Amino acid sequence: MTYERKGRYIVEFQDIPKARQHHIEIPVEERRNNYNEVELGFDEERALQEAKRCLSCRRCLGCALCWAECKTEAINFDMKDEYFDLEADTIIISAGVERPIERVNPLFGLGKNNNIITDLQLERMLSASGPSAGLVIRPHDGEIPASIAFVQSYASASPQMHRAALFLGINEAILVRRKLPGAEISLFGQDLAPFLEEQKEALKGLDRIEIREAVVSALTPAENQSLQVTVESNGTQETRTFDLVVLLTQPQISQDVKNLSKKLGLTMSYANFLAQDVTGLISTEKETLKLTAVQ
Ligand code: SF4
Repeated sequence: MTYERKGRYIVEFQDIPKARQHHIEIPVEERRNNYNEVELGFDEERALQEAKRCLSCRRCLGCALCWAECKTEAINFDMKDEYFDLEADTIIISAGVERPIERVNPLFGLGKNNNIITDLQLERMLSASGPSAGLVIRPHDGEIPASIAFVQSYASASPQMHRAALFLGINEAILVRRKLPGAEISLFGQDLAPFLEEQKEALKGLDRIEIREAVVSALTPAENQSLQVTVESNGTQETRTFDLVVLLTQPQISQDVKNLSKKLGLTMSYANFLAQDVTGLISTEKETLKLTAVQ
């Protein structure tokens, strides 16, 4: 097997980049008989939109901005592509997951309030090499949140994907509990019964993490950029305030794994893959190729 290690690698985005903003210009009729400036530049809204495009590179131009900003010095512009010939008796494909934000219900206003983040953003926050050096903070003001709600943000998913999303969310809630022993932590999700039954023993050890079968019908701004979470459960409605809301996103097998499986001549439907027993290695139609599950 020949293994290729890319020297300079930039993730190929599947989405369409946001359109470039254009300067505001005065109308033609106002340009006659005067020397007034035609181009008025950006107003605040356009300036903010244009600034958001920064560092969303689709193709690397070698400007080195990312290199200058990367505090952990993870970017090396001198790296060349390398090829290795490897011999192995068995190849194990470990399926990484993507969590696309396009599937987040717009009702939750992701991007409109800084204190609403996704589980992937929280994962970065929990990492010692992440943007907050491992501290769990409210992006709005950098304060430590006293209350955190994990909210299912997708309407429906296959049971396997739903299970994976809950796993990831509860795992993060446990990590948050370790970092913030006094915080109020709640998780609101739907169709929890099969998962709770299956994980009954493991969940017994949860330390003051509320897991509740409920639909979150609204997230509204509260004082100091906190959020009012409206929860519907068993025919009743309740509104509670949280300092930080983490949206549980729907995981899917990464495109890289699908591409690799194609290269290796392996037929892999991610749903079938996940539908199998998820403990240990999973056999494929090729004797020397095995899969591991998303956990
Ligand atoms: S070098 Fe510049 S263009 Fe290339 S990835 Fe970094 S920031 Fe983007």
